[in-house]
Amino acid sequence: MYKPTLYLIATIALIFLISSCAVNKQPEAVRFRALQKGRIADDSSYVYSLPYETGKKHLIVQGYFSRFTHRNRAAIDFKMKRGTPIYAARGGVVTRVKEDGDKGGLDRNLRQYGNSIIINHNDNTRAGYWHLQYNGVVVNVGDTVKQGQLIGYSGKTGYSAFPHLHFIVWRSEAGGWRQIGTRFQTKKGVKYLRPYRSYRRPNEQ
Ligand SMILES: [Zn+2]
Repeated sequence: MYKPTLYLIATIALIFLISSCAVNKQPEAVRFRALQKGRIADDSSYVYSLPYETGKKHLIVQGYFSRFTHRNRAAIDFKMKRGTPIYAARGGVVTRVKEDGDKGGLDRNLRQYGNSIIINHNDNTRAGYWHLQYNGVVVNVGDTVKQGQLIGYSGKTGYSAFPHLHFIVWRSEAGGWRQIGTRFQTKKGVKYLRPYRSYRRPNEQ
């Protein structure tokens, strides 16, 4: 074979390899964007409740896989004032609570102070609620909670630049817990949430 042809084949192979790596690195991110844009219809996954009061709306300041602190996270940040009541997005069993953290700010070293609740669901998924205020948890480990039940109060403890609720769902898979995106019941229907938009929790929920 001619040398230039070989170079061409090698270059094409290299480009293919690099681009496929880039895609495969974050398959959930790619799948998720398609869901957000409505390119994939998904009607079998669980419908979560927005984790705040019915009739209220909150702005998503950071969405799934965004560039700031969620680069590799399928998490959502709901902007809300300290002390905002937080309701279970889905029913389950409380498996972890922390409410003794009393510091927060934009510093990775403060991560350990983040107050949180983890609730396991009945399908090998679990949800995490983060940055709750000091002494701001009203459930205990072992409690069974219903969807829409009051579980705590928001804050800005841990690695957090401003008061918000960091919400995340994982699914147990071979090799550990994988972060997944979920859909929510909003006033305007069932949606995968997008950043810089506000979503109101419907009254009837
Ligand atoms: Zn967050």
